[in-house]
Amino acid sequence: MTTPIEVPENLPETELAAIKPIRGRMDRDGVVKFLQNFYNEAEIKAMRDSGVDQRMVVGINSYYDALIRGEALADNDGNEILSSMPPSAALQHLVVPIIAEAADKSGEKDPSNQIHYSPEELKGKILHKYDEIVLGHAALACSAHCRYCYRLDLFNGSTGKGLVKPEELRDYVRNYNGTLVANKGVDPETGEKRFPITEVLLSGGDVMVLSNKQLYKYMAAAAEGGAHVVRIGTKEMAFRPMRFDENLAAMFNRFHARYPHIHINIVTHFTHADELLQRNADGSYKMENGYRVLLNPVKKAIQTMTALSFVSLENQTPIIRHVNDKAEALHILHQELRRNTIKSKYIFQCREIEGHKAFAVPVEESWQLHTEAQKGLSDGARSRFAMSTEWGKLEVVAVTDGITDESLETLVEETALPIQSLLGQGLVIMKMHRSPFSANTQSDLVIARRNPKALWISDYEDRIIYDGRKQGAAKYEAMIALLRSLSEAEEKRSKAA
Ligand code: SF4
Repeated sequence: MTTPIEVPENLPETELAAIKPIRGRMDRDGVVKFLQNFYNEAEIKAMRDSGVDQRMVVGINSYYDALIRGEALADNDGNEILSSMPPSAALQHLVVPIIAEAADKSGEKDPSNQIHYSPEELKGKILHKYDEIVLGHAALACSAHCRYCYRLDLFNGSTGKGLVKPEELRDYVRNYNGTLVANKGVDPETGEKRFPITEVLLSGGDVMVLSNKQLYKYMAAAAEGGAHVVRIGTKEMAFRPMRFDENLAAMFNRFHARYPHIHINIVTHFTHADELLQRNADGSYKMENGYRVLLNPVKKAIQTMTALSFVSLENQTPIIRHVNDKAEALHILHQELRRNTIKSKYIFQCREIEGHKAFAVPVEESWQLHTEAQKGLSDGARSRFAMSTEWGKLEVVAVTDGITDESLETLVEETALPIQSLLGQGLVIMKMHRSPFSANTQSDLVIARRNPKALWISDYEDRIIYDGRKQGAAKYEAMIALLRSLSEAEEKRSKAA
């Protein structure tokens, strides 16, 4: 029989009564009131009629609403939380729906085919893609909704995903690692070296919407399963930073006292510096003694977490059209995260979710933005630009220029033609930064001819000339096929001549 996970008595809870989320379709009072700040009645009706809220319900809370609209905000005792600032167009685009979301709903219900990485015994409840880390779906909500959310299918249940119980998560990690030890670290079917689970990622949704008691239970599940690190994926430090208060710190301290060898890694989701910084009336960032000034609730949240020696902070976010599609905005975000002890880990390409065309910036444009944004950043402030695909995390490491006519003119036609076909438009070079399961494609490359309109790896599939996702000679199949068709065409031409 499964042993229930015990939670200590009297864990302090975070008080968030003043910052309640509002969620729902566009006929719900609170939602309509929120939308009326941006749209007239006819526009709201047009969005509803075109199914924008069928794709994804609207979600907001009073803190993030105030941040978007630049309204002052106070707690129930009248203490200032936010002072009055100009509105933030970037943050508006992050949570306020647009009619274009429903205009083209092409995309994947389950982006990156995540369900493929969900083991049969806990189908849809956990994802185990990379040997060393397992993701548990531990919450079904967030305190506001990013319109570009790639976990839509978890919220609407369309692909069979759902919540894992803490005990199920613990037992999975324990059994997986136990079996691996019994097999001397080798997969008996393939003979490949496999790796134990050392990290558990608590995700959803956003686990920071759970009570401290519930969160403790999931953290304890990871620790008792044998993980070394509990990773918490959350946008709550941007959406509702007061969640990271002294009561949460007290819970973490209780957890640490019980499981002293476990590290807590909080992966935040700051998308734009407007989520971190105070703005002046003209929209510029407020400065004090030559430094940009953090929003008070964010400052407090970071300080409360960094005061704990066993907690670290990292950040990841996608590039989203109209939100953070400016190199300068990304640069400032990286700078301020660095200064405030949050490591910028990934900048992601927007996933191929249903309706992604309303948010996605083409891959090559995103790469360019990211590259520009990294200039002038120290190595500790930098991030990787990657696509989180079915085959693992593909880091886009380079986009090359096409070959010039001038260079081709120096070659004989038989040589110029294949070079032109392969390199003419330039190449996109991607590295398998994270490789699933036994990581047997780790650090290999995927090289494709450029496609400036590509929004995802799927838009490069017919242009790939070297495919490190495959094994052996198959990596070169597409290039050989291209060269063969060129030489056959050439043969036909010369026979006809
Ligand atoms: S915080 Fe994450 S899970 Fe929640 S709405 Fe945004 S992208 Fe989706």
